[in-house]
Amino acid sequence: MTRSALITGITGQDGAYLAKLLLDKGYRVTGMVRRSSHGDVPDHRMRWLGVADRVALIDGNLLDLSNLVRVVSDVKPDEVYNLAAQSFVATSWQQPSLTAQVTAVGALNILEAVRIAAPQARFYQASSSEMYGKIQEPVQKETTPFYPRSPYAVAKLFAHWSTVNYRESFGMHASSGIMFNHESPLRGIEFVTRKITWTAARIKLGLAEELRLGNIDAKRDWGHARDYVRAMWLMLQQETPDDYVVATGRTTTVRRTVEIAFAHAGLDPDKHLVIDPALFRPAEVDVLRGDPSKARRRLGWDHEVSLEEMIAEMVDADLARLTSRT
Ligand code: NDP
Ligand code: GDP
Repeated sequence: MTRSALITGITGQDGAYLAKLLLDKGYRVTGMVRRSSHGDVPDHRMRWLGVADRVALIDGNLLDLSNLVRVVSDVKPDEVYNLAAQSFVATSWQQPSLTAQVTAVGALNILEAVRIAAPQARFYQASSSEMYGKIQEPVQKETTPFYPRSPYAVAKLFAHWSTVNYRESFGMHASSGIMFNHESPLRGIEFVTRKITWTAARIKLGLAEELRLGNIDAKRDWGHARDYVRAMWLMLQQETPDDYVVATGRTTTVRRTVEIAFAHAGLDPDKHLVIDPALFRPAEVDVLRGDPSKARRRLGWDHEVSLEEMIAEMVDADLARLTSRT
């Protein structure tokens, strides 16, 4: 029988890649989309991957529990992937209450809806390495204590523990992927990797002069979204639900990522990079590095795309986008 998957946050980066993965596996995919006046824009990422026509869209918002119960009842999913969130750390200091409502309580709402309307469905929660924040161990694994450093991370921690709690309280097949940063040509332009590749492409084409960044000494464990959505699916194929770190195990500074991108574009970063104090955050996560051994062992998962390959793909995609516009 055809399996049915419901994805919240389908219009985002991971939603598009996950939709493609599930469609390629023969799933019926329904994506929940919140109402907006920009009616024709929301599926642009799915269009980029060539899957927009094969996904059914349904109206819904994580903030409205009764609506979520109806969505889950109508779709009758075998698998639910909760990817929706206010996902940008910097915005979470400007909109902490909204971030808490969507990213924390929204996750609780969808857990409730699944418990009420499809208790046998398998559930995935998009947890985040930001929960480690001020790191308590040099390499973070599932047992590393959390120390969130932003309203976003605090909200994700609530959602993470709610997922664990629903598994333990109600026997739900609820799993949480503690995902380290993952990027792609479909990454939101406000995130640092995409800001770097987009600006490198603009400088290359003579459309910009400067790349303005904040803390370039910050280190992240960056992987490719296409690899990471595979781990989400694998978690829901296990007999027992669990939590998994999904990471590459390598950490790199923002500065080095700028060098990689600019070298690929044939540019000298020293001529263009400007440090802007306004872009520093009220509290920083200085370094993240994940240990994906459990995912390797239990899920047979590993990343396939290196940072260099990913940044090259992103720069090329941004050059192609900008060139086709002019
Ligand atoms: P995006 O920011 O690209 O996508 C977020 C999605 O959530 C969008 O589809 C957005 O819809 C939707 N959304 C926001 N608010 C609501 C709401 N109130 N109701 C319904 N939908 C809503 O995120 P990513 O794809 O990068 O990430 C997916 C998930 O994984 C997020 O939860 C993120 O926090 C988490 N995560 C991501 C990591 C990463 O490196 N990418 C790392 C760890 C965790 P709209 O298009 O309308 O704005
Ligand atoms: P995050 O790890 O989810 O916050 O992902 P981001 O891509 O937004 O940020 C990664 C790191 O890059 C953080 O430590 C930021 O402080 C740092 N950074 C430095 N300059 C910038 C910038 O201009 N924009 C963003 N988004 N991050 C920046």
